[in-house]
Amino acid sequence: MEQQQRHPLLEVKGNKAPSRLPLPGSRLKRGPDQMDNALEPEKKRIRGLGTVTKIATSHPRAPPLTSVPQTQGQTTAQKVPKKTGPWCSTAITTVSKSKKPVAAVPAQKPDTSAVPPMVGGKKPSKRPAWDLKGQLGDLNIELKRYRERTQTLDQENQQLRAQLKEAQQEAKALGEERRTLKEELAKVQAQAKQGQQELGNLSARVLELEERLGMQEGLVQELQKEQLELQEERRGLAARLEEQERRLQASEVALSSSQAEVASLRQETAAQVTLLAERGERLHGLEMERRRLHNQLQELKGNIRVFCRVRPVLPGEPTPPPGLLLFPAGPGGPSDPPTRLSLSRSDERRGTLNGAPAPTTRHDFSFDRVFPPGSGQEEVFEEIAMLVQSALDGYPVCIFAYGQTGSGKTFTMEGGPGGDPQLEGLIPRALRHLFSVAQELGDQGWTYRFVASYVEIYNETVRDLLATGARKGQGGECKIRRAGPGSEELTVTNARYVSVSCEKEVEALLYLARQNRAVACTAQNERSSRSHSVFQLQITGEHTGRGLQCGAPLNLVDLAGSERLDPGLALGAEERERLRETQAINSSLSTLGLVIMALSNKESHVPYRNSKLTYLLQNSLGGSAKMLMFVNISPLEENVSESLNSLRFASKVNQCVIGTAQANRK
Ligand code: ADP
Ligand code: MG
Repeated sequence: MEQQQRHPLLEVKGNKAPSRLPLPGSRLKRGPDQMDNALEPEKKRIRGLGTVTKIATSHPRAPPLTSVPQTQGQTTAQKVPKKTGPWCSTAITTVSKSKKPVAAVPAQKPDTSAVPPMVGGKKPSKRPAWDLKGQLGDLNIELKRYRERTQTLDQENQQLRAQLKEAQQEAKALGEERRTLKEELAKVQAQAKQGQQELGNLSARVLELEERLGMQEGLVQELQKEQLELQEERRGLAARLEEQERRLQASEVALSSSQAEVASLRQETAAQVTLLAERGERLHGLEMERRRLHNQLQELKGNIRVFCRVRPVLPGEPTPPPGLLLFPAGPGGPSDPPTRLSLSRSDERRGTLNGAPAPTTRHDFSFDRVFPPGSGQEEVFEEIAMLVQSALDGYPVCIFAYGQTGSGKTFTMEGGPGGDPQLEGLIPRALRHLFSVAQELGDQGWTYRFVASYVEIYNETVRDLLATGARKGQGGECKIRRAGPGSEELTVTNARYVSVSCEKEVEALLYLARQNRAVACTAQNERSSRSHSVFQLQITGEHTGRGLQCGAPLNLVDLAGSERLDPGLALGAEERERLRETQAINSSLSTLGLVIMALSNKESHVPYRNSKLTYLLQNSLGGSAKMLMFVNISPLEENVSESLNSLRFASKVNQCVIGTAQANRK
């Protein structure tokens, strides 16, 4: 289509009509032949445009100048075959544009009718040379024809220009369209590219999805497998559940029977509780009765009792002569516990005659109990256990160990060396016993508290044996004071009162006391033998349910050595000091004896204040208290004199009967 459109345009471009117009001057110079040739392109042009007919018809007067008859031209025209095609159609179109219908003109054969007489094969008849006028007229006619022709061609040219312009505009529009199309093409291409990219992406995505699908399928398979397993497990669980339900039912049955049982047990328990309360009541009554009887027994035994203990002969000591100490059997025979002791002393002043052995004087003593050398610690304790227990019932108790130095007082009170449990003395045993009885009484509603103190009275000064830290071993002087204004209770100032509740604590206290004594014992004067050691245990019991309270002190006293100073000794400075000490000891021991006597004789004045010892023990001696004195005796012959003194002192004490003991009950 483009070609078809472009075609006439190219034709027009090549047709530079004005430049091809023959100039009148040159035409004249060329002659008729040249003129004909010069017209040839023009003819072609006319043929091409199909305007020949128009030109021919515009010159009606041409025949006289042409040799071609009108009929001939028509015949020729009829002979020309009708040509179809672009050219032909264009010619027709052009003609139709001029709105002048024309007859078909032979395109290949030029129309010679328009050619001047000198153009073409037949030349016009020549005017005689003289006919200048005619010639001039011919030339004028020719000139006129040329002018007309020129005018026609100008018009044609204008038309062609208009066509050209139109064609150019059309071309421009087409260019525009082409550009638009190109742009569209580019867009379409870009879109295609994008589409391709998207396609690529989609393919990748498809691949990915396929991959995932594969995975999903694997997963699905796994899940299916798992589901199967779970189903299996579920079946198992269901079976177990069923089993459990069966068991639950059985349990429920058992539970209901158990509940019935519980109900009956509860009833039974309630009955038991009532019974228990009744029994508790009875038990309490029995306990009170026990205490009363116990006390009665103690009273029957005497509120002051004296036990004599003879220590064994120690390794390395001289064997005493046979019969020095005898232990006659009691009225009930050898099965009875011994209560008597005989000491035989040779009378040296009378026994030297004729070299015969000095006569011996036998001294018999009777006590509440006599312990011969083989008696063990346990055996001794058993005898005093009931007395110790009286302190729990509210009776103050005092247990003394009296005797010369080395007779076994400390052994009896604290125990033997080396921490051997068999050799434990009265203090640890008494406390253990009290703790255990207190625990038993706890079941009956009694609560007990024990507070211990341990002091030493040396040369009428009181010192704390439980002192610790800076005061250890020395201990500031302690004073015996009333616990409060108007109070009967006595307390030792500067002394430690330690709450104890178990054996270990008591052991620790005894160990501390031994250490304190050892530190103080710097001088070789065996201070411990000249001092009294007083272990006091404050006991307080409470029965909150019945609002009962009871409490009494238990005193365990290791007295100073009772030996007297040998008056035959020369009195040096040291001896004088010892004498002073001994006097102090003897004074305090004799004060103890005097106090006991005064109590026994029910004297109005009891000289408690005459010694620190009796003052400290004031509340545990006398009417409401129970007292036990151990008289410790050495088995050695050399100690016979001192032994006799001790036994005499003890006998005096044993003869004392101190009024009826009263329990400290509130
Ligand atoms: P005291 O305290 O009266 O001065 P001790 O208790 O220190 O006397 O006894 C002196 C020595 O005799 C110590 O070595 C002690 O172990 C020992 N002793 C005392 N009584 C007995 C006893 N019943 N059995 C064994 N050894 C004893
Ligand atoms: Mg001692």
